[in-house]
Parts: sequence; structure tokens; C-alpha cells
Amino acid sequence: MPITDACGSDRTAQTALSKEQALGRLLARVEPIGETESLATADGLGRVLAEPLVSAIEVPAWDNSAMDGYAVRHADLSSRGGRLRVAQRIPAGATGSFLEPGTAARIFTGAPVPAGGDTVVIQEVCEASHEWVRIPLDCKPGTNIRRAGEDIRAGAEVIGRGTRLAPQHLGLAASVGVARLCAFRRLRVAVFSSGDELVMPGEPLGPGQIYNSNRFMLLGLIQRLGCEVIDLGIVEDTLDATEQVLSRGAREADLVIGSGGVSVGEEDHVRAALERVGTLELWDIAIRPGKPLAFGRIGATPFIGTPGNPVSLFVTFCLFGIPAILRRQGVGGDLRPVTVKARAGFDWPRPDRRRELHRARIQTAPDGVPEILVFPSRSSAVLSSVVWANGLVEIRERQVIQRGDLVDFIPFEGLLSP
Ligand code: AMP
Ligand code: MG
Repeated sequence: MPITDACGSDRTAQTALSKEQALGRLLARVEPIGETESLATADGLGRVLAEPLVSAIEVPAWDNSAMDGYAVRHADLSSRGGRLRVAQRIPAGATGSFLEPGTAARIFTGAPVPAGGDTVVIQEVCEASHEWVRIPLDCKPGTNIRRAGEDIRAGAEVIGRGTRLAPQHLGLAASVGVARLCAFRRLRVAVFSSGDELVMPGEPLGPGQIYNSNRFMLLGLIQRLGCEVIDLGIVEDTLDATEQVLSRGAREADLVIGSGGVSVGEEDHVRAALERVGTLELWDIAIRPGKPLAFGRIGATPFIGTPGNPVSLFVTFCLFGIPAILRRQGVGGDLRPVTVKARAGFDWPRPDRRRELHRARIQTAPDGVPEILVFPSRSSAVLSSVVWANGLVEIRERQVIQRGDLVDFIPFEGLLSP
């Protein structure tokens, strides 16, 4: 089967895609899994909501006091000179009785404002003695009352479909009394690492061998997105082994991700194997670092093939792998990585023709303003650079940067919750 791009043209005629075009293509080819399950709100952290969450109740359910103080009828204050008898006490959790004209209710934060009362005066400005309280005359009617339905109206959508649930979403769901949620089922992602040179930590390194670091990065990144990982291990550089791992991944997972073996060398078998068991597109993306990104399909299961070079893998996965997983999980909205503008703390006098995504750190400069620093080496073989970095600086094609210019920064943390 020939390698084609989206337009069906031969790969030799294909020109490099921009980062945006590549992401657009990828997202256009990955569909949400669709299968849902019901789970306890308490188990919802990190899951993706499959149906909008609608409140059946008003929040607050009734007018309640925003402060500790005295509930009064405002009309009484002007006519009675502000001295009222404290006829009842309403702590949170209690319900008071009708507030008779000429009386006040001692009231606490969160307690229902008694019928007849229309204003709460904070205790700090009142003078209480025995059963009486003196209220200052200048308080405004209606103050310090949280109105029924002020936060949420009954019937209102409070959390949208496709939202990844953070602790605050769980709190909001609980605040409207929701005990169970409808979420997309957990995504199963199969991961394999191609390369005869790879061994696992714990094993001795033979001549020519290196440790399989990609596996650990990929697993960590995928687990942080709340996916179940199926680790298919190290795959030897043969066509048969690569075919087998792709077929197994497609049987067991919703998405297959491989590292290494996607180039066009004799030892790279992902292309040929995919052409046998499924379909493949190979995209040359005009970014540095980065090799071609492979996208394929084995039956209905999408496959993403990332470069073997650990830094390229990390950057490529952040830019393309994470949005693809979010889409497959059912996350809605804009899936592009969050970008912020900050001041360059470096000069970039010799830009590349390709877009560069350089490993960078955002930190607070002595004047209190956030500033971007870049890793001193452009080499993509240095994994310690992604440990030093807390994000990527995006440098446009041929963009010369001078210290103090505003530059685009993609924080690693923002990648997990766009
Ligand atoms: P490849 O994409 O297979 O040509 O690999 C490119 C480079 O990345 C080679 O130097 C490989 O040794 C290295 N590499 C490939 N896979 C891994 C891995 N899982 N962990 C660490 N390095 C790797
Ligand atoms: Mg290889």
C-alpha cells in the first residue's frame, strides 16, 4: 500500500507540514471512544464527563446569611431608631421562624434568613446587650444575604460534556447533590519501544546497548492523563515482531503508541509492518526537534509512531500525542497546548528555517517578572534538558529574538489540562 498524505498524493510529492497542520490532521483522524460508564462522584477525578451535568436544585436552595450577625427588617431600622429585641437564634443547619416586626434574629453564616427578614447586619457593627441589639442606621437594605439560586439555577448545566474532572468539578457536582457521574470509560493505550539496542534498567548493559528510557516517559505521560497502559515491551527490529506487536496492540487497546523505528532506514520496520496490517501516513513536520510522525490505523484502532530519540519523542508527544489522547478520551474544546507570552531572558541570533521548540524554563527574574531561559544546547540527544526545562519556547521560522522580547512558552503542566 503506498504511503499517502491526506490528499492521497505520493509521499515524495509531500511538503513538510506546519505544526498546526499536523495537529489538525491528527485530530481529524482520531475519534472519541464513545463508550461510557457510571461511576461514583468520589471516583471521578481525572475522568472525562460523557454527559453534561445538570443541576436539579437551586444553589443556594434558600436565601441565607453571608455573615455572622443579625437578621432584621430594614424598615424597622429607620422607624425604631435601630434598637431591636433579639427574638430568635439561627445557627447554620437550623431554620428560624417568622421574623416579627420590631425584632431581630441572631444569625450565623450559611443559616437561612427567616421569613420577614430582608437584611443581615454584621455583628462587628452591632452593640448587643442581653436580649437587645443596637443596629447602626446606615446599613443598606438587602446586604449580606446570598440569594436562592444566585450560584446555580435549577436546570442549569454546571459542567459540560467532555470536561476532564478536576477536584473543583467534583466539589461542584457534590454541591448539587450528584452522587454518580456518566464518564467515558478509561482509555486503554498500548505502548511499545522498538530497538534491538534497548535493555531495561536492572539489566546489565551489553556492548552497543542503551537503557529504554522512552518507555518510562511514555508510560508516565499516558498515566498522568488517566489512561490505563498496556505495556507491550521492547520490540526487536524485525518486520514480523513489529507486525505482531501492532496487531496485538490493536486487539487490546483503544490507541497504540510506538517509539522508534519510524524512519526510513533498513532497521526501521514500523512503516512496512503497518502497511501490512493496516494503513499508514507519514508526516514530515517542519519543527525542530522532530523526525517524521507516523499516523496509522490497524482496523479501527489508531496508531501513533513517535521518533526514537528521547528528546524528539518527548517534544513530539507533548505537541501531538497528548492532544490525540485527549480527543480519543472524549475531551472537548480546544486541544491545542496552552501557550503563554513571557519575556525572553536570552538572545536567539541564528534562527532555523524550521519552527523550533526549544527546551526552556520559566522563572521569576529579580524584578519579579517571569522570564524564559533556554537550555544551552540545541542537541536533541540530551534527555537531562527536558528535566531542566519546565516547558518549551516556540521560536517561529527565522525569528530573531533579543533579550526582553515577548516569546511564546508552552508550560509542560498546561499540557495535561488544556
Ligand atoms: P530510531 O527512531 O529507532 O531510529 O531511534 C533513534 C535514536 O533513539 C537511536 O539513537 C536510538 O538508540 C534511540 N532510541 C530509540 N528508542 C529508544 C528508547 N526506547 N529509549 C532510549 N533511546 C531510544
Ligand atoms: Mg531504531
